[in-house]
Amino acid sequence: MTFEQLGLSQPVLQALSLKGYETPSPIQEQAIPHVLEGKDLLGIAQTGTGKTAAFMLPSIDRLTASGKSAQRRSCRMLVLAPTRELAGQIAESARDYAKFAKMRIVTVFGGTSVNRNKQDLARGVDILIATPGRLVDLADQGALDLGSVEVLVLDEADQMLDLGFIHDLRRIVRLLPAQRQTLFFSATMPKAIKDLARQYLTVPVHVSV
Ligand code: AMP
Repeated sequence: MTFEQLGLSQPVLQALSLKGYETPSPIQEQAIPHVLEGKDLLGIAQTGTGKTAAFMLPSIDRLTASGKSAQRRSCRMLVLAPTRELAGQIAESARDYAKFAKMRIVTVFGGTSVNRNKQDLARGVDILIATPGRLVDLADQGALDLGSVEVLVLDEADQMLDLGFIHDLRRIVRLLPAQRQTLFFSATMPKAIKDLARQYLTVPVHVSV
């Protein structure tokens, strides 16, 4: 199987060849065609399996193909991650994967300047990568309107619950449009995660690696 056969576009394929990726990993092979079709996805996968590319590559293609542009103080794709470290890593990968696509990518997490975050959000963002706490602060302060999010990604959902982000997470999801694509990743699937997935996903494709 090749990345091309999965249905990805030239700008993304070019970025992958620059990264030196030759073949899709199992989660990429299983997830990418469904995400490209706009389906919701429940993925059970650990870090190191290539899950970031599994959600980021097809989403970059969909955001490009939809032809919309980011409105001021809003974002089109929201990726929630439990830790600053993970948010930073996702952002770094996203920038590489979107190197030949025109995407404005912004990261917001605690411990950085809120004013800087506000400036970054003011012009509108295609892909926003955030930790839940800082995102709630920014939304409360009117710096971010989540009403036009097209894709929501929850990465390491089990960690998010373990770190006590369930309240923030629920508040954030309430601010999103009901009509959206949701991609949900977790390394483990305890009952609390299953319940959350059942609430947030619509007829999801299940992928496990
Ligand atoms: P992730 O699970 O998303 O954190 O990815 C783990 C690591 O694998 C990252 O360093 C990626 O750059 C790398 N990676 C992801 N997909 C591929 C692939 N298809 N071929 C080679 N390396 C990859």
